Amino acid sequence: DRIISSESNDFDEQYELSLRPQKLSQYIGQHKVKENLNIFIEAAKLRQESLDHVLLYGPPGLGKTTLATVISNEMDVNIRLTSGPAIERPGDLAAIVSSLEPGDVLFIDEIHRLPRAIEEVLYPAMEDFCLDIVVGKGPEARSIRLDLPPFTLVGATTRAGALSAPLRDRFGVLLRLEFYDEEALVEIVLRSSQLFNVEIDRLAAREIARRSRGTPRIANRLLKRVRDYAQVLGDGTISHPLANQALELLQVDPLGLDHIDHKLMVGMIERFRGGPVGLDTIAASIGEESQTIEDVYEPYLMQIGFIQRTPRGREATKLAYDHFGYTYPEQS
Ligand code: ADP
Repeated sequence: DRIISSESNDFDEQYELSLRPQKLSQYIGQHKVKENLNIFIEAAKLRQESLDHVLLYGPPGLGKTTLATVISNEMDVNIRLTSGPAIERPGDLAAIVSSLEPGDVLFIDEIHRLPRAIEEVLYPAMEDFCLDIVVGKGPEARSIRLDLPPFTLVGATTRAGALSAPLRDRFGVLLRLEFYDEEALVEIVLRSSQLFNVEIDRLAAREIARRSRGTPRIANRLLKRVRDYAQVLGDGTISHPLANQALELLQVDPLGLDHIDHKLMVGMIERFRGGPVGLDTIAASIGEESQTIEDVYEPYLMQIGFIQRTPRGREATKLAYDHFGYTYPEQS
């Protein structure tokens, strides 16, 4: 497992719950998203209605699940958490939505992975708060309509483009989460340190923030590992030198890149003269799947301006050459 992976693992799940902000005011960064949500929440409360369905999209680890929980807390309702792949049959969905209380939030993570047949059951549920389910088989089969309490569907996806248009159109509110800037990540690290009950100085928090790839989940994971080093190698306090030493041992470079990023970028520079080179060729050369490169490795490398997409393939930029100590070939 990469320590800088933005996907959550079993280990993350054990402590992430305790780190989740409960209210909008504790949710750090994402100002535009918060500003919009705040208005929608206030308006829904004034009208004493359930909140419109909300679609949250953006890379893993940016706080989509957290935000869904925050929404339910601010609306003062319960939340049910599930995910696209977990709902296999229409009956699974029916069981969940029919158990909701009026106004409740239903959170569906990875909503783009919902089976098509379920999507179709979801449409009337979202639009008219009712379910048409088929009972019985063959000639005996008939459809019955089930009324549901009004609820708010909060869908989360890493790729809004993978959602079918009819499903996307049924969300009243579409919010895109952005990578966090360094300042916001420093605040997140300081806040989490407090919850972990560990002393940290601001420079150390900044060092962790800088290597977190714009992602709170990675910031918290790095903090947790650095804390281990502080306990074993020091007196438990995370000083700046100690943070640096720990992050070096964890092999996360000052930009948050690890050995796989290095392999990918150096491969592009050395073997393909910086490109343009096709995704499949890059993938084959480092023994990875194209989809993994596109979904997992490439977004951050593009975000920091190391890889550029061109019609003829991927190109390594001058920034990347500089970072890895290569001379950028001047274009003729
Ligand atoms: P996602 O659902 O987008 O994969 P999560 O909501 O699970 O991400 O967030 C991952 C971790 O990052 C959580 O433990 C949460 O505590 C932390 N986190 C995310 N966003 C914020 C934020 N805006 N402020 C503070 N902590 C955050």
